[in-house]
Amino acid sequence: MPTKSKHKKRQVARHPQPAPPIPSHNRRLVWFGGLVVAIIVAAAVFFFKQKEEKPLVLPPFSAESAFALLQKQCDFGPRVPGTSAHDSCRAFLAAELRKYADNVVAQSFTHSAPGLPNEVKLTNIIASFNVNAKRRVLLGAHWDSRPWADQDSDSLQHKTPVLGANDGASGVAILLEIARVIKSSPPPVGVDIFLFDGEDLGTPGESRTYALGSQHYARNKASNYNPLFGIVLDMVGDKDLQIYQEGNSVRFAGGVVERVWKLAARLGIREFIASPRHEVFDDHVAFIEAGIPTIDLIDFDYPHWHTTQDTPDKCSPASLEKVGKVVLAALYDHEGL
Ligand SMILES: [Zn+2]
Repeated sequence: MPTKSKHKKRQVARHPQPAPPIPSHNRRLVWFGGLVVAIIVAAAVFFFKQKEEKPLVLPPFSAESAFALLQKQCDFGPRVPGTSAHDSCRAFLAAELRKYADNVVAQSFTHSAPGLPNEVKLTNIIASFNVNAKRRVLLGAHWDSRPWADQDSDSLQHKTPVLGANDGASGVAILLEIARVIKSSPPPVGVDIFLFDGEDLGTPGESRTYALGSQHYARNKASNYNPLFGIVLDMVGDKDLQIYQEGNSVRFAGGVVERVWKLAARLGIREFIASPRHEVFDDHVAFIEAGIPTIDLIDFDYPHWHTTQDTPDKCSPASLEKVGKVVLAALYDHEGL
């Protein structure tokens, strides 16, 4: 509601009084004053621009360590729920996170997926850093791999499990490396790393049958857990990396998208392309629905998606490093928080 004085001001402005003429001996003084003001304004603009564009100083992210963690997950074989590879990898991931985090929790539940012979146990692994910090950021990736290569050009392979070097292992590898970085150089916010299970057990065309781990977590989430924002990583290791802005992220967490792509630009990482492409039901959606602005970093143009060709040779340490640095920037850039 406008105040009385504001209303009055507007009336005055609409009927301005003519300004008294400036005596000629004062004109030079006015001109000089104007010049001084212009110089001050230009200097201020220059100063703020410099401030905005100063390089980001981040703790080092090791591309080689991250890639070794991708390879290690693939060495277990496809991490398909209900298999021994899935069990062994879960133990490995929990042990890795316990090296660095202040608290690691395993959240298990059971699920029956059409196409799987038995009910399976699914486990989200949640690692928290700086547990007492009120200002928190959520990072997530899925650690399971798909039981069926149903996008393979060879239809005989449609029942073969996917190794998931990019679809699963890439995001987890980056988050494990980030866990190490956070431990040695704590950021100014608390961080929770979520490794979700059961992302890839879905039936094509039925969104809710995917992203089971994040949906389960969000359904049971404590009401006082409200991080500032979230970033989910999925298919972020492709050698030929191109990360466009994902549709649900743009629509429901546009401020986070804008900030993250600006940070990528400041880091000179051109693989983050500032235009929208693809709309994906991924682990970020459950958090958006829970009121936490969460984005999905995903290269959905990966040609080996859900095929037997999703193997480590299609991924690169450089791509993991680029995404890792952008995520670190989102944690360490004080001014944006
Ligand atoms: Zn997938």
